[in-house]
Amino acid sequence: MALTSYGPLIGAIDQGTSSTRVLIFASKTGELITYHQVNVKLIYPKEGWVEQNPNEILQSVITCLSKAVENLKALNINVADLKAIGITNQRETTILWDKLTGKPLFNAIVWLDMRTSATVNKLLANIPDNDKDVLRPQCGLPVTTYFSALKIRWLLDNVPEVKAALKEKRCLFGTVDSWLLWNLTGGVKGGKHLTDVTNASRTMLMNIHALRWDEKLCSFFDIPMSILPEIHSSSEIFGYINDGPLKDIPISGILGDQQAALVGQMCFKQGDAKNTYGTGCFLLYNTGSQPVESKHGLLTTVAYQMGKKKPVTYALEGAIAIAGACVQWLRDNLGIIKESAEIEHLANQVDGTHGCYFVPAFSGLFCPHWKPDARGIICGLTQFTNKFHISRAVLEAICFQTRELLDAMNHDSGIPLKSLQVDGGMSVNSLLMQLQADLLGISVVRPSMPETTALGAAMAAGCAEEINLWNMDPTKYPKTITDTFLPTISATERDKRFQWWKLAVERSLNWKL
Ligand code: ADP
Repeated sequence: MALTSYGPLIGAIDQGTSSTRVLIFASKTGELITYHQVNVKLIYPKEGWVEQNPNEILQSVITCLSKAVENLKALNINVADLKAIGITNQRETTILWDKLTGKPLFNAIVWLDMRTSATVNKLLANIPDNDKDVLRPQCGLPVTTYFSALKIRWLLDNVPEVKAALKEKRCLFGTVDSWLLWNLTGGVKGGKHLTDVTNASRTMLMNIHALRWDEKLCSFFDIPMSILPEIHSSSEIFGYINDGPLKDIPISGILGDQQAALVGQMCFKQGDAKNTYGTGCFLLYNTGSQPVESKHGLLTTVAYQMGKKKPVTYALEGAIAIAGACVQWLRDNLGIIKESAEIEHLANQVDGTHGCYFVPAFSGLFCPHWKPDARGIICGLTQFTNKFHISRAVLEAICFQTRELLDAMNHDSGIPLKSLQVDGGMSVNSLLMQLQADLLGISVVRPSMPETTALGAAMAAGCAEEINLWNMDPTKYPKTITDTFLPTISATERDKRFQWWKLAVERSLNWKL
């Protein structure tokens, strides 16, 4: 039987907080051909601590790669059509490993983890007014628990195996992209210890103007530069897979997951923006060739650099720690639902929350508040409140938090967004999308192909020099089919509910034990 051909194929490894996926796209059409997904366990050893096993992360990727290859064979597609692989990953999550044995020196400390709040306070104790924005001019970020530098500092201070490995020059640091790249390209037998500008921009150690590790930033956190990976652009050949069914295929793209979604949504023009609803929720706004310093609690970050000699593009970012994670909490901690998707059915049983507001500040509150000691609260309860109202309040919480981001974004950019492009695992929830349009008062546009994060990584891999299989001009591809959700409530109603939300946030911010 003749083989089926879609022309050259590009793969994407999408290593997220909740799961790992490998997806294969046709480079000529952007069509998704096949994929495989494996869930990844989150470990909660103590209150506020969130870890993952780096070996489980790696194994999930290896499994997904071989299953995706099996899928291709089952579809009668020649595996040799697969020409390159891109990596996109949960950002900030920090792994230290031993370069001689290849073994992790500790579990991965996940971006949501709060254990470094004492480290943050200690570092800021010597800064006038304890100003958490003291490093913003160099790295675009406030000093908070979220970013990798704090997590590295904690590991260096608290884990004897790390101290020993550092002393003996065996210790390497990587965000998840680097850990995967090093292992897939050979590990102890010459694995490549590299990262890209987008992931590096989330460590607090890279100067976002010079795109290099910054001596002053490293010395602020007292982190030796010798453990850091080399910084490259997002689109170039990083190395070749050295084992398994995809041996010798180049890895030619790396992008942090939120930046990959921006690329996958084709937000290439200054002023383009997207909001991704996954474990957390992230609104990125393309600011073009200039980094814009936020005056309203947003982050300044590198959006992408599509090749060594290509210009760099920056973004303003609003980050919410808990979005889908709260749905998982309803599932795993309260047992109200068995599957995440069930929340939509529950929330649809009522026409409103009847005054119930849920602020899911499980990891403190990120943008625009940056309050690590905020705590989650549910308020406005009456005897009448039931699981339907609480489920709906969870969905509304994600929408209200997005409204806070959008307000900050509109203030910083001076140009209010007229419509919002969305994606991510949670965006399949149509009630959530309708509530979002209602509570923002602008249209919400969802692509029918929600895997924009993986698509972005495939695009970065496909357009790399020497690969040249992906045209970055969106007009060269079939027009994306979208669903549009329009606001259905009045501005007065919207503003009233937002004021109530703010009262709930006040209580969350001022919660003291
Ligand atoms: P990540 O990239 O952070 O791993 P995903 O984009 O894969 O996240 O989305 C997974 C998250 O979305 C999980 O937290 C899950 O609870 C949530 N989720 C998935 N489907 C739905 C749904 N239909 N309604 C609400 N939440 C959902």
